[in-house]
Amino acid sequence: MPKPRLKIIPLGGLSEIGKNMMVMEYEDDIIIIDAGLMFPEEGMLGIDLVIPDISYLLEKQEKIKGIVITHGHEDHIGALPYLLPQLNVPVYSTKLTRGLISVKLKERKALAGANLRVVPFGGKITLGKFRVEFFPVCHSIPDAAGLIIHTPVGTVVHSGDFKLDYTPVSGQPTALSRLAQLGGQGVLLLLSDSTYAELPGYTPSERVVGETLDRVMADAPGRVIITTFSSLVSRVQQVIDAAAKHQRRVFIVGRSMSDTARMALELGYLQAPDGILARLDELRGMPHNKIVFVTTGSQGEPTSALVRMANRDHRQVHILRGDTVVISATPIPGNEALINRTLDNLFKQGAQVLYSKVAPVHVHGHASQEELKLLLNLVKPRFFMPIHGEYRHLSLHAKLAQSVGIPKDNTFVLEDGDTLEISPQAGKITDKVASSNVYVDGLSVGDIGGVVIRDRKMLSKDGIVIVVIAINQQTGKVVGRPDIVSRGFVDTRESSDMIEESRDLLARVLDHGGTRPADWGFINTKVRDTLSKFYYEQTRRRPMILPFMVKV
Ligand SMILES: [Zn+2]
Ligand SMILES: [Zn+2]
Repeated sequence: MPKPRLKIIPLGGLSEIGKNMMVMEYEDDIIIIDAGLMFPEEGMLGIDLVIPDISYLLEKQEKIKGIVITHGHEDHIGALPYLLPQLNVPVYSTKLTRGLISVKLKERKALAGANLRVVPFGGKITLGKFRVEFFPVCHSIPDAAGLIIHTPVGTVVHSGDFKLDYTPVSGQPTALSRLAQLGGQGVLLLLSDSTYAELPGYTPSERVVGETLDRVMADAPGRVIITTFSSLVSRVQQVIDAAAKHQRRVFIVGRSMSDTARMALELGYLQAPDGILARLDELRGMPHNKIVFVTTGSQGEPTSALVRMANRDHRQVHILRGDTVVISATPIPGNEALINRTLDNLFKQGAQVLYSKVAPVHVHGHASQEELKLLLNLVKPRFFMPIHGEYRHLSLHAKLAQSVGIPKDNTFVLEDGDTLEISPQAGKITDKVASSNVYVDGLSVGDIGGVVIRDRKMLSKDGIVIVVIAINQQTGKVVGRPDIVSRGFVDTRESSDMIEESRDLLARVLDHGGTRPADWGFINTKVRDTLSKFYYEQTRRRPMILPFMVKV
């Protein structure tokens, strides 16, 4: 009988950026680390969000002891509103992270019944046979944590998302001494953030951005509009600090930015001197060089305040000639097209626009290669598994680990669903569990499958043809020529001859039913086959064909 082993199963976040979720399982105990979402890729038409597939967990529900969240970014908490009602277990996190989780749950009306518990840095919780300790890491959000997980097989260190900023704007620097101490005692496995494993050197400090914002506030002739992620509380703090220094007042615009700022102020993660924050109804008559707006919209989200301002669609604020707009964020992959359109609109309205390609207005929150190596050297794990990143990031990170002396056989590059089993001596990938994308479209979760997306691709590529077929109620026979309506297929005026021809063709094909009542299934198939073939011959396109029956 082999000894029980520790299982590590990523359900999201490996070979992709986003929807991070990691399962750790030992005998009858399971803990889940993070429950994030991913924004859809370009091919996922009409999909709002993507969340991890938890069918593996639903089978073992009684084993799950809790969800441990490293920090409050969407790619770590965003799936909670959808998954928590199904899993119904306590959620452990630091204080600000809990605040952000409750904002998210409230938005989706999933807060009632949620069991959200705060764990301080250095605090330990016992979840079955796992003992989990939170340690501070520096990242682009305050109160971000890494995890030390004591298991019967050995100690596991999970880095969360991290970098090594020695002069962070808010929060604490990464707890290097605690990690070094652990390294001395022996660590079985290190799971470490690979998001920026491609970048050599060190990630610059947040201070760089502070200096740029200071210059912008001093030099801008008119209003300054700064957009960033609502969760980037430290950036909002930098904006407030710079505004205070240059006697500007700060207007926080947009619901998610206001909600987060209010929560961060209440919890003490954001400090604003008296009288610096202003309400939009105080805007009238204020000199332009005394005004700063902070809004969301850095990803070109169509409903965000910045995009509405850029499209002259915002109720209170429009972009004016002389405004300076600062996009203090990097594009999340997949959002580039939306962001570029927003940039163009801002330029058209006469704004001066600063974004990361033209000015140091953002630093990202992840460790570069030298920082990753330092963590490996401090923790000195027996086994190493890169997490959080596309396959190339994970591979490069594994190579870095080997370069600092971790044997190749002890580094494991997994993809979502792969199951790594480790004992104190050895590790092996043994299994693959379900880990596909679960799509969220508006209010519906999970019932959008590949078929729906394929249909949407077809619609977007070749359009749709609707065929209306009249059937006599009494005889059940087809009456007259079918009607054809199309959208996104051909120019109906230019191609009216072809459409007419296809109506004739259909009438002929459907007519030789004789006295037999028409069978709808037969007509449906016949119409699709006939038109697909005919339109393809004529246009080399394959529109979606949708027959409709009207009884007359
Ligand atoms: Zn993060
Ligand atoms: Zn992340």
